[in-house]
Amino acid sequence: MLYHIVTYGCQMNVHESEKIAGMLEDLGYSPTDKREDADIIVFNTCAIREGAEDRAFGNIGALKQLKKQDRNKIIAVCGCMTQQKQVAEKIFKTFPFVDIVVGTHNLYLLEKLIKRKLNENKRILDYMESSPVIEGIPTKRTSGDNAWINIMYGCNNFCTYCIVPYVRGREMSRKKQDILDEIKEVIDTKCYKTITLLGQNVNSYGNDSKENGNFAELINDICKLDGDFKLTFMTSHPKDLSDELIEAIKNNDKVIKEIHLPVQSGSTKILKAMNRNYTREHYLDLIKKLRDAVPDIRITTDIIVGFPGETEQDFEDTCSLVKQVKYDGIFAFMYSKRSGTIAATMPNQVDESVKNYRVNYLLNLEKEIKAQKG
Ligand code: SF4
Repeated sequence: MLYHIVTYGCQMNVHESEKIAGMLEDLGYSPTDKREDADIIVFNTCAIREGAEDRAFGNIGALKQLKKQDRNKIIAVCGCMTQQKQVAEKIFKTFPFVDIVVGTHNLYLLEKLIKRKLNENKRILDYMESSPVIEGIPTKRTSGDNAWINIMYGCNNFCTYCIVPYVRGREMSRKKQDILDEIKEVIDTKCYKTITLLGQNVNSYGNDSKENGNFAELINDICKLDGDFKLTFMTSHPKDLSDELIEAIKNNDKVIKEIHLPVQSGSTKILKAMNRNYTREHYLDLIKKLRDAVPDIRITTDIIVGFPGETEQDFEDTCSLVKQVKYDGIFAFMYSKRSGTIAATMPNQVDESVKNYRVNYLLNLEKEIKAQKG
């Protein structure tokens, strides 16, 4: 029996697909690169951009033909799209050839749902508003010598352009001991050189329960584990980057000297409209602290251009910040409306042509900076 997983979106989803693979292999399935050969196809979807959702709808629709050729093929759709109740219902209604629709909170039930489908031969829509942290889901790691380790789920930040807190719910940290146990297992296999801690905002790890300690303490404790490994993490929200964390990066040889610190904009006015809860000055202060502590630290960032209300001056502020920080890498995105978010209803939406110009300008600026740095 063969399975094929299609993954959209971020590293969290890539890791979630590793858990899906783990559950499928537990059931006796093996991977295949060809969806036409698969007995089960799983679409692990992303909701971050409306365009991505539309594309996913198109791609799910295209599976109809495969199902026609083999009626026993199981088609399952999961991920952030199906954690939105109305979208899950729409997929279930629009695509009668989809057998299982399941959200992110109850994804751990996938094995059971597949067995139910096989036994009862009924279509299943399984949705849960929320769930506690579930441990012990089998994982088939597929990211080379890098092992992803989730340390927390959800987000409390409500950046005005982002749908994640509405879909993934509030922050829930895993118990520190569970994280350490999973990492020990990974180290013992001797197959992984790098361990990457994952969370929407790893810097707020532990804020929801004092017994776990904070993120800096977690890093210190992981680095005390025996074994030959390097440690890194993503993503860090600047508002929660503490001095203690900078010390942990500096003092632990196992921590890779790099940080992805999304600034999103160099204009304090726009940062406020984005509800990012830091200013340009605070961000630049963090960069200085990081470089004072670890002079050769690699710093990368995300930037959104054309956020509603972004003027030429605001964009110039972003460019001047980029010139000042001299990033080692920039992921630049044009703002795109995401319905269900506050920013989608804001006035002064920026023209596509202006966004296009700004994103290209920024990418050229990044190239120039890279060339200067050599
Ligand atoms: S920190 Fe902001 S951008 Fe990141 S997931 Fe949370 S709400 Fe979205």
